[in-house]
Amino acid sequence: MEYSPTSASRRLVTAEILSIGTEITSGETRDTNAGELARSLTGFGVEVLRMAAVPDRREAVEGAFRSALERADLVVSTGGLGPTPDDLTRESIAAVCGETPTIDPDLERWLRGLWDRRGITFPEMNLKQAWRIPSARSLANPNGTAPGWLVERPNGRVIVVLPGPPREMRPMWRDEALPRLIERGFGSERAVRTLRLTGVGESIVAERIGEALLRQVNPEVATYARADAIDVRMSASPRPASGDLPERSANELLDEVEPLVLAAVGGYVWARGDTSWPEAIGSELERHGWTLATRELGTGGSLVTLLGSRPWLVRSEVLAERPRGSGRADAVGETAELRDAAGSEVGLTVSTRMRGGDTAVSVAVATPVRTARRRTVAFLGGELGRSRAALAAVALLLETLRRDD
Ligand code: AMP
Ligand code: MG
Repeated sequence: MEYSPTSASRRLVTAEILSIGTEITSGETRDTNAGELARSLTGFGVEVLRMAAVPDRREAVEGAFRSALERADLVVSTGGLGPTPDDLTRESIAAVCGETPTIDPDLERWLRGLWDRRGITFPEMNLKQAWRIPSARSLANPNGTAPGWLVERPNGRVIVVLPGPPREMRPMWRDEALPRLIERGFGSERAVRTLRLTGVGESIVAERIGEALLRQVNPEVATYARADAIDVRMSASPRPASGDLPERSANELLDEVEPLVLAAVGGYVWARGDTSWPEAIGSELERHGWTLATRELGTGGSLVTLLGSRPWLVRSEVLAERPRGSGRADAVGETAELRDAAGSEVGLTVSTRMRGGDTAVSVAVATPVRTARRRTVAFLGGELGRSRAALAAVALLLETLRRDD
């Protein structure tokens, strides 16, 4: 006999995500919900097996739930909870579960109250949003009129049903669905550490870390080329004892792998976790009690875009490219003058010039205790070259601020 865990014993370790709506499959709306949910699920150690989008067609929606429930412990859907006849998520799930939706009196009261409060007649069409099937618990929606559902199947699988608008979906996932899933037994203990690297390309990072580590499954080491850094993400789940390998917690596995990764690429690490450049620079400036003035030439404002508006950024100048041959030989002197004119303690200048298809970058930093200068060539030109020039600038700035000798 096939072992069929009861709803209490089935731990939810795999998931599929369904994005429902013709606006998604026609390309009118970009599906951001699935990615956000996938990220959250992965963070809880739930393996996402598949993400799919389906149009507002009954057989498509029903079929998508049916087949997802054959594979995954947990199916999370967004969309199709509107009041109109083309929103078919509720009736599709009811059909898949073989249940009949009825109007939930509590939901109806709440729903009618939303209109009464504004003195508007309740459109009877909206009554559909008070529907519930017996095996569903409703998930409150404080930002809209579509409550969600959390459905427990007899075989222990779970369906979480959320509305499409991201500002409704997000708090419902976080405050309504997640706590119930966690209580129920959700994902695996998973530890994650991220190293943020700069001044190196992803392929070199991968080469230095080596194929053996990158192919390993637990702990897992993966590289991600982000706009502002190459991230090396190390993640692990607890490993039971097997053969002559002892049992290891997720963190013990990371303690073992991290030194290997640091030995390979530690020299490029500028931050950990999800630290941003302005956060890293801001904390160094605050440590010294300093403020910053910047000047950028030929970067299209990419430096100020990267830094954003910060209390410690007292001046940011954006200038067009300097005419050929008129460059100041004394970039450090110019940076010190900028700093003095702005009344800040730290100055940062960056200028770019196209060289071949790439971007030649010149960066200078002046602080009360030292100056620094660097010329590099950023890969490619245009928008990419300009944003890499800004990264070269903040990298030299951070490095200089961190030097305590
Ligand atoms: P619905 O719940 O299907 O009525 O969706 C209402 C609105 O939510 C849509 O018109 C979109 O603007 C937005 N929306 C629906 N699904 C998604 C999704 N997967 N990602 C981002 N936005 C979405
Ligand atoms: Mg829709």
